[in-house]
Amino acid sequence: MKKMSPKRVHLYSLLILAAGAALGAIGALSEIKLLAILGITLLIGDIVFRIACYRCSYCGRYLDRSRGEYCPYCGKELNY
Ligand SMILES: [Zn+2]
Repeated sequence: MKKMSPKRVHLYSLLILAAGAALGAIGALSEIKLLAILGITLLIGDIVFRIACYRCSYCGRYLDRSRGEYCPYCGKELNY
């Protein structure tokens, strides 16, 4: 499997987060449990996805909240 760039992972992560939050909120407000559960599942999945994939492609360390152009650990450029 081809590795995704950290920027792409961050973008997908935000999209999944937004979708999960929206589904969860709609499910909670309309009391449709299935939607709420789906939303929560997406939120949890997003965290797992982020931890698994939001990593430096050079040293492999988790980038956490780092949004810079360079890896804070090895100093390599992340934008590729
Ligand atoms: Zn690195």
